[in-house]
Amino acid sequence: MNTYRIPWHEKHKGQLFCDDSSESIIELLRSECTKGAVSWRMPCSVNAVAALNEGFELQTSQGLIRASELVVACGGMAIPQLGATDFALILARQFGLKIIEPRPALVPLNFDSQLWSSFSPLSGVAAEVLLYNQDSTKKRVEFSEDLLFTHRGLSGPGILQISSYWQPGEHIMIDLAPNVNLPAVLVAAKQGNRQQLATVLSELWPKRLIEQWLDANENIPKGLAQQRIADVPDKTLRSLGEQIHQWTLYPVGTAGYKKAEVMRGGVDTKMLNQKTLQAKSMKGLYFIGEACDVTGWLGGYNFQWAWASGVACGRAVGAQ
Ligand SMILES: Cc1cc2nc3c(=O)[nH]c(=O)nc-3n(C[C@H](O)[C@H](O)[C@H](O)COP(=O)(O)OP(=O)(O)OC[C@H]3O[C@@H](n4cnc5c(N)ncnc54)[C@H](O)[C@@H]3O)c2cc1C
Repeated sequence: MNTYRIPWHEKHKGQLFCDDSSESIIELLRSECTKGAVSWRMPCSVNAVAALNEGFELQTSQGLIRASELVVACGGMAIPQLGATDFALILARQFGLKIIEPRPALVPLNFDSQLWSSFSPLSGVAAEVLLYNQDSTKKRVEFSEDLLFTHRGLSGPGILQISSYWQPGEHIMIDLAPNVNLPAVLVAAKQGNRQQLATVLSELWPKRLIEQWLDANENIPKGLAQQRIADVPDKTLRSLGEQIHQWTLYPVGTAGYKKAEVMRGGVDTKMLNQKTLQAKSMKGLYFIGEACDVTGWLGGYNFQWAWASGVACGRAVGAQ
């Protein structure tokens, strides 16, 4: 980036973005390809691959191609509208490599439409929250990020992050007021306070979120937001504070590959040489990038893996 003088900035927790357009990264990659005398065939789809005694034969839309080494870099299934396919997984299966079940990741989460109908008026509202769940090994995973309400569920960076850890049937927890001990703050705020509860809470959240969220939540007494905080029993305030800290949700699914930024799962990394990405069971066959079971957080980590695995593999192939 520095060699090519591409200006960039760090947005949040190591997430790196170009100041201008991502086109400058494409230019960088093109220029490096020119230096490496890369020959291009575009557009060109590979329809089938056969292993020969020595090397591989590819049936492509531009005819047959023979190669002594084959690097499979055709990514995952996220955003098929942009050309994503499952071809890497087809090849992995063809050559007997184990696959970790693929799923959409970095993806919005959807909820039961009837349950969500009372939250859907919040569509477009964002809030900074703490999201957490326990993964299958019961290790707590948490992200402090923005949440965005949508018509069908939740999106925003926080949800995209936690979606990579969520499994069907599991719940996620959202602390809508991180960094505050809300039960204690609400009880302390009662003293001589003539304000409505909604007004007190508006120091934390946008007013629209407070009224709609409290109203939509089955466990919260109706009309609570409009009551004077001084008249609300301590027990109710403590319970409200706890519910705001521990909003428990059961997603019914994700928004799918059409909206996902990556595919999690893919070729089991145990099947690959860790230094070269060559299949342990087949000489000359390599898998890199998103086709492998490596999924990064938001913020450039998936590109980083795609490029780093590409460099490691490229060096190994070049040394042949
Ligand atoms: C909308 C969106 C936003 C993203 N934002 C970020 C981000 O900000 N930061 C980040 O780190 N990651 C991001 N990602 C993820 C990142 O783009 C991928 O993880 C990364 O590009 C994977 O690189 P790859 O080379 O493995 O595969 P890809 O970049 O997916 O390239 C694979 C290529 O192979 C082609 N292909 C597939 N099948 C065939 C076939 N049979 N014949 C010929 N060609 C084929 C595909 O059309 C594609 O061009 C984003 C992804 C999406 C969809």
